[in-house]
Amino acid sequence: MLEADPFELYSVVTGSIRLDGGAMFGVVPKVLWEKVADVDGLNRILLATRTLLAVDRSHRRVVLVDTGCGIKWTPDQAERFSVQYDPDAIPNALAAVGLGVEDVTDVVVSHLHFDHNGGLTYWYDEPDGPTRLSYPQARHWIHRGHWEHANRPHLRDRASFRKEDFAALADSDLLHLVEREDPDPPFEGVEWFVSSGHTPFQLHPVFGGGSSRLLFVGDIVPTVAHLRLAWIMAYDLRPLATVAEKEAVFRRCFEEGLLLAFPHDPKVGGVAIDGTVERPIVARTLPL
Ligand SMILES: [Zn+2]
Repeated sequence: MLEADPFELYSVVTGSIRLDGGAMFGVVPKVLWEKVADVDGLNRILLATRTLLAVDRSHRRVVLVDTGCGIKWTPDQAERFSVQYDPDAIPNALAAVGLGVEDVTDVVVSHLHFDHNGGLTYWYDEPDGPTRLSYPQARHWIHRGHWEHANRPHLRDRASFRKEDFAALADSDLLHLVEREDPDPPFEGVEWFVSSGHTPFQLHPVFGGGSSRLLFVGDIVPTVAHLRLAWIMAYDLRPLATVAEKEAVFRRCFEEGLLLAFPHDPKVGGVAIDGTVERPIVARTLPL
């Protein structure tokens, strides 16, 4: 557990997925990235799907950042990306700190790619049937710009969105759309950071108000290997913007002591960095 007053923070591995290694490292040659990634015979690398759990007991607030791939997968669909999802991972993580799923007050949706938020809904009747929200009592925070993009994605990224992951939100009163590039804080101890290189208006919460503050860096820096400034994903819609956003994040790490939580690293929940903006290195792994 990492403390970032008023929050206790935990990185919960909900499962894993395998995505094409070339797509995950953009223009970086395989002879370089294969040294730092677990690659299979189909050229796919192993990625964890991580949820950040934040608990503020003083304000009775229980926050999930992203919800994993979820269980709405037919065997054929799951095989393509080698999707593994443990439906007990989040309930077990909550139970370990004396809480239940019904205690979740807020879900922060960094973005609606299926590997981040397929877990928002589940099929309650039959495969490919109607869906229900997994956290029907929680406020769901999504940036308005991203919500609009996800509902009308571009040809180039539409395979990353599955409408059944989030359609149920549109019909609920739980959808809280975050406005502007510099959004107002949602509640005490959290501020927002917004990026648009990977996908439009990705939402990144920063937890903690004191000296220890943790940024859920999302798909700006999906794993430790992506700390290198030029190592960015081919999935990114605006790769040069991603590089600038990484620089801005690293600068804040050095100037403000910001810590990073990853969404996909198979081994590490988060790190403190050292080195330079151009070449950050891991100073220490966090007890997340
Ligand atoms: Zn993504």
